Amino acid sequence: MIVSATRSPEELAAAAREFLTAHTPDSAASSESVGTWLAPGRVNLIGDHVDYAFGVCLPFATTMATAVAARKRDDGVLRMLSQSPNGELLDASVPLADLDAAVNAADAQPGILPDWRGYIAGTVHALGAGGMDLAVVSDVPLGSGLSSSAALECAVGVAARDLYELGTSDEDLIAATMRAENFYVGANTGGLDQNAVVRGRAGFALALDFLEDTHEQVPCGLEGYTLLVVDSRVEHSHATGEYSSRRGLIDATAAALSCTFRENDIVERAVTWATDHPEDALGNDPEVVRRRVRHVHSETARTIEAVEALKAGDIEHFGRLMNDSHASLRDDYEIVPDALETAVRAARAAGAVGARITGGGFGGSTIALCPADRAEAIATTIIEATDKGGFPTPAIYATSAQDGARKV
Ligand code: ADP
Ligand code: MG
Repeated sequence: MIVSATRSPEELAAAAREFLTAHTPDSAASSESVGTWLAPGRVNLIGDHVDYAFGVCLPFATTMATAVAARKRDDGVLRMLSQSPNGELLDASVPLADLDAAVNAADAQPGILPDWRGYIAGTVHALGAGGMDLAVVSDVPLGSGLSSSAALECAVGVAARDLYELGTSDEDLIAATMRAENFYVGANTGGLDQNAVVRGRAGFALALDFLEDTHEQVPCGLEGYTLLVVDSRVEHSHATGEYSSRRGLIDATAAALSCTFRENDIVERAVTWATDHPEDALGNDPEVVRRRVRHVHSETARTIEAVEALKAGDIEHFGRLMNDSHASLRDDYEIVPDALETAVRAARAAGAVGARITGGGFGGSTIALCPADRAEAIATTIIEATDKGGFPTPAIYATSAQDGARKV
């Protein structure tokens, strides 16, 4: 089989429980029983680099998921266990009182716990929960654009909500997990991931409109088709800086022009502004500004059209819009490395109805919407093409829309 297997929710939960009990056999601080929770990763079908620009995205929660086993502790400490991608044990303890002090410091800045611990501890602290032992087991590849970070935050978030009977609404849970990422870790990401991971529903994609602040469940059974997720395994060491530079320009444009990027004349207005005020446009050439703003404008229009195509069951049309989106991210937003371009071209040549980069780019993953009976052959073709190009061999998963973060 070319396509990788992933564990079921029950298998992941059992592995997390075993991990916790193996490392905390006689938890000094708690006699509480252990529960297990699960949160999926997400793929974005279309609508990338628009969540921070009042745009529309269409993600769904994946089969690949993260499980957390947890129990309460009464000493206000968070004991966190996980594994690094190369199998190293991650084991850390953070007293919540330390986070109180860091957050309340007069000079508090984003990034008070800027590593794996921040996603977990930030979520627990932002929710106002107490001490816990937490063990994490995940099948969501880390840093591959499939949102292992939101899967981790949201699995921990639902665990904390249940264990401490917080009664937090999904909306407030999303806000707390976003705060973990934005403030505690210090990653300047939009709200696409946490929304998709919390609100996911089996058989549905989630249309998120960041201008109207609405979300709509859109049937996404994709009968007769298989969605392949292709993790390129390409290192994206410059991703953070590049993401910030794209986002920085769009934020500056929005502030200067008070625009939503849906105006028909927004591209020309942005070019004029960047020509007249190069310092406000962060030194970007006006032609670069044209391309960046054109992506945000066209991607939002395309995603609105794609939602309608999906509702109408017009998968061929949906696939063409995926292809157009990819071209815009490659040519106008310039976030597609060669390895991912190779995978996309191979998928289409082998019969995918649509293929595109997904997520933040500069590495990470692509997706290919395939006639179900062609999926295995398309996966083989992708691997042949990336091997021939001298790129890392991708990991390929078949996925479908699943339920969001929950107890298992
Ligand atoms: P993505 O969300 O696309 O996978 P990010 O860079 O946003 O990529 O998040 C990846 C980071 O999230 C990792 O570097 C790590 O710090 C943290 N992370 C995610 N999942 C886990 C996990 N299971 N265990 C420990 N840390 C994790
Ligand atoms: Mg992430």
